[in-house]
Amino acid sequence: MTMCRRVRRDAVAEGAGPPGARVRRARRAGIAAGAVLVAGLAVATPSSGHVIAIDVGHSIASQGAISARGVAEFEFNRALALVVEQTLAAAGYRPFLIGADGRTEDLVSRPRRAGEARAGLFVSVHHDSAKARFQRDWIHDGRPRKYLDDRFRGFSIFVSRNNVQWPLALRCASAIGARMIAGGFRASRYHADPVLGSGREFADEANGVHFYDNLAVLRHAPMPALLFEAGVIVNRDEELALGRAETRAGIARALGEGMGDCGFRT
Ligand SMILES: [Zn+2]
Repeated sequence: MTMCRRVRRDAVAEGAGPPGARVRRARRAGIAAGAVLVAGLAVATPSSGHVIAIDVGHSIASQGAISARGVAEFEFNRALALVVEQTLAAAGYRPFLIGADGRTEDLVSRPRRAGEARAGLFVSVHHDSAKARFQRDWIHDGRPRKYLDDRFRGFSIFVSRNNVQWPLALRCASAIGARMIAGGFRASRYHADPVLGSGREFADEANGVHFYDNLAVLRHAPMPALLFEAGVIVNRDEELALGRAETRAGIARALGEGMGDCGFRT
């Protein structure tokens, strides 16, 4: 995927200006006009859409939550982010993936790279857990694991009022949450609960959106930014659902449609 994106960016840089001028420049440079036209066609669709930063939460060194069956959150995040990238590209957006190689350790460089890529929207992709004291023991494949019961399930979306463009971030979060619910997904309740969660204030209760003002990755973003928890991988049933291709496709579709609803037209 990395190589494809690099090729596309190069093509964009080379393809600047009207098509006629591109061909003339290419002829002067001794490059076959056909090749340039192919490159021009290849960039025509993505260059018409907004750049959307898709941030893969966590890294190889710091993998986030561990699922009920022992899979690292980073793996779930990356798998979903790649589907989101494909879905957005197919819809005419220009997705810009951050952290997919698992080597991005700090949080501040993520929104900075999104800014450098001129992303109009920043979406950090995560999968959820809950407090350790609610996690119970079970054995999976002969190994001791932790799981959460059905009080802990569903997607959650977070926005920060310290993000310079939080009103638009909230509008997008609400739109994405609404599309998730329309797609058959359920919003979590437990983050708002003072015992089960952290008493996190709802920003849009109906659509599963909360305020989380001090999230670094949102605070430092120069564009509207939101953090998307796709679901709870420590919940055994939800982990299985979140690992299915059709679930990832449905989530990616909801994200793309929600972005369209809040003004990021392709
Ligand atoms: Zn996470």
